[in-house]
Amino acid sequence: MLKKKILFKLSGEFFKSATNTIDIERVFDLAKEIATIRKKYRLAVVFGGGNIFRGRQMTGKIKNQAAWHFVGMAATLVNALALKAVFDELRIPARIISAFDPPKKQDYFRHNEIIIFAGGTGRPFVTTDSAAVKYALEYGADIILKGTKVSGIYTDDPHKNPQAKKFNEISHQDYLKIKNTTIFDKDAVALAGRKKLPIYIFRWGKGMVAKAIKLQAGGTLIDG
Ligand code: UDP
Repeated sequence: MLKKKILFKLSGEFFKSATNTIDIERVFDLAKEIATIRKKYRLAVVFGGGNIFRGRQMTGKIKNQAAWHFVGMAATLVNALALKAVFDELRIPARIISAFDPPKKQDYFRHNEIIIFAGGTGRPFVTTDSAAVKYALEYGADIILKGTKVSGIYTDDPHKNPQAKKFNEISHQDYLKIKNTTIFDKDAVALAGRKKLPIYIFRWGKGMVAKAIKLQAGGTLIDG
């Protein structure tokens, strides 16, 4: 039987330590959870870099914005190396594929490795959400599971508006109509919508990986 292909999008923010680097304990917890499901699925991970640096932090401060987006991309490499080191420590086969590797047809998932996509798309002015969708389409992932700090998509910002309601499910088109949401980059959702790629948003936490894979993590499914 063909194994389902799952792409996890890890937002850097969740792994932020007190010193703006990586909370390695959290990475260990996550890697152990991913390990429990790795034989049932073909797994890939796109790690963001927001815990270390985001290009848009420099918007308005300097002219050469592209240069700072490369700093952001380098941050995703740091995270990917840390995750790989943790998988190695746990003796879980994993491989980094970087946007800065020489271009070649990749033999994804050989030897049951977990693939870690690093460096985003390799180009500035976009996010690792875009990279996640492009990689998912490239290797035919069935779904993207994005773990974040918030529990799903709301009608409005739940911190500012207590009346805000969470969607269990929302179409790609309707997600694009929500104002001021950054939970998943809208450019990336537009592409996912055209290609009918579902995205599930959920809050990271202990035990959530196994629930998210069954879409039972109390999050929001973007589909249809
Ligand atoms: N970035 C980029 N091109 C990409 C992916 C990322 O320029 O294809 C830069 C961009 O500046 C971004 C930073 O890398 O802010 C970190 O990625 P992201 O903000 O997506 O990280 P996350 O929010 O998921 O932690």
